[in-house]
Amino acid sequence: MRLSRYFMPILKENPKEAEIVSHRLMLRAGMVRQQSQGIYSWLPLGKRVLDKVNAIVRKEQNRAGAIELSMPTLQSAELWQESGRYEDYGKEMLRIRDRQDRPMLYGPTNEEMITDIFRASVKSYKDLPLNLYHIQLKFRDEIRPRFGTMRSREFLMKDAYSFDLTKEDAIHSYNKMFAAYLRTFAELGLRAIPMRADTGPIGGNHSHEFIILADTGESEVFSHRDFVNFDIPPADTDFDDVAGLQAIFDKWTSVYAATSEMHDADAFEAIPESERLSARGIEVGHIFYFGTKYSEPMGAKVQGPDGKEHLVHMGSYGIGPTRLVSAIIEAWHDENGIIWPASVAPFDCVIINMKAGDAACDAASDRLYQSLEKAGLDVLLDDTDDRAGTKFATADLIGVPTQLIVGPRSVANGEVEVKDRRTGARETMTIEAALNRLIG
Ligand code: ATP
Ligand code: MG
Repeated sequence: MRLSRYFMPILKENPKEAEIVSHRLMLRAGMVRQQSQGIYSWLPLGKRVLDKVNAIVRKEQNRAGAIELSMPTLQSAELWQESGRYEDYGKEMLRIRDRQDRPMLYGPTNEEMITDIFRASVKSYKDLPLNLYHIQLKFRDEIRPRFGTMRSREFLMKDAYSFDLTKEDAIHSYNKMFAAYLRTFAELGLRAIPMRADTGPIGGNHSHEFIILADTGESEVFSHRDFVNFDIPPADTDFDDVAGLQAIFDKWTSVYAATSEMHDADAFEAIPESERLSARGIEVGHIFYFGTKYSEPMGAKVQGPDGKEHLVHMGSYGIGPTRLVSAIIEAWHDENGIIWPASVAPFDCVIINMKAGDAACDAASDRLYQSLEKAGLDVLLDDTDDRAGTKFATADLIGVPTQLIVGPRSVANGEVEVKDRRTGARETMTIEAALNRLIG
C-alpha cells in the first residue's frame, strides 16, 4: 500500500474525549471513528488489525473442532419470549418494531437463536458433539459506553455454542474451548489468566473469564504469580483427548485467580505475599457451561443410545475481537505510539522514503516495496511529501513492527536503515541484507 493513495487520517492533537491510552492511540492513528455514542466505524488501518484478530480467533476455533456459521444481528422477540429472557434482559436490549409492528431486537447474544437452529435439525446423539460459532456484531445498550472500542454499544463477538448428550461430554467441550482460548490469546500477544466466574443458579466450577492484566482494566483481580510461567497448549494439542484436555484445565485452574465478584480473601491471603498478584484486568473472553438452561424451555432434545429423548447440555463461549484490539494496545505501546505484536500488525513493515521525489530514494523504495510485496508481506510505503520527522512519528504511532528507512545518504552506498519498533534498535545494512532479514 502506498500511503499517498491510502486513507489513514492521523490526528496531530490528542483527542480530549479519550481517557485511556488505547482509545487515544486508536483515534490518533486513524483506526476508528465514533459515529454515535459507543458505535464505531473501523477505518482501513483499524479494519486490517481487526481482520487479523478475527483470523486468529477463527483458526483456533476451527482447530478445536468448532464450526463457523453466520446468524443475523436482528432477531425476533418470539424466541426470547420462549426462553423467558425477553422481559429479563432489561434496558441493555435494543428493541425495535418492524413495519408490521412485530417486536424485533438487535441481538446482544445468540443462545436462543442457536438453540432454535439446533432443535430444527439435530435429532440424534450421533450428531453430537456439536459446536457452532459465528463472529458477528452485537448490540448492548451499555449504561456507560466508554474507553472507545473497549466498552462500546455495538461490538463484535465471537460466540460459540456447544451441544452434548451428557454433562460429562459437555465438560469435554468446555475444556476444548478453554484450551483454544489459551492458544488464541497467546497468539494475539497477550497473557490471559482464566478466572473462575459466577455461574449463578447453575452452580459448579464451569464458568471462566479470561482476563488480561492492565492498569486501565475495569475489573479488580487477584491471582497467584505462577500463571506467568504456565505453558500454553501446543499447536498439536489433540482436542479429542479427553484426559489430556482435562489435565490442561486442571493445571490452569490449580492456583488461585479470581475477580472481585468471586474473591475469597482468606484463600488469597494463604498465598505467600511475594507470590500474590493484585491488579486490574480486562475481560477479553468468557466461557460458560449452563446445562439445560435453554434446551429445557425451548425443547432441544436428541434421541440417546437408550432410544429415549434427552435434553441437550449446552455451553457458550464468547470472545470480543473489537475489545481485544483495545486490550492489545493497552498491553503494547510506549510514549510514541502502538507496538503491534507481529501476528496482528496492520502491516509487516513500513518503508519510509525520507526524500520522495529524489530519484535514488524513489528507486530504492520501489525496489524494496516490490520485492517485499512479491514475497507476500503486507507493506506500507510512505511515499508522501511530508517532512522526514513527521514520517518517523507516524511510523512509530501506527506501530508497524519493522521500519525501513530510505534516505539519500544511505542509498548512495546501496544501504538502508532497519529499525525495530519495539526495541528501537537501528541497523544500517545493504538493501539485499534488509530484504533477506524480512523475507528470511
Ligand atoms: P462485561 O463484564 O465487560 O460487561 P460481559 O460479561 O457482559 O462483559 P459477555 O456476555 O461475557 O460479556 O461477552 C463475551 C465477550 O464479549 C466479553 O468477554 C468481551 O470480550 C466482549 N464484550 C462484552 N461486552 C462488550 C462491550 N460492551 N464492548 C466490547 N466488547 C464487549
Ligand atoms: Mg462476561
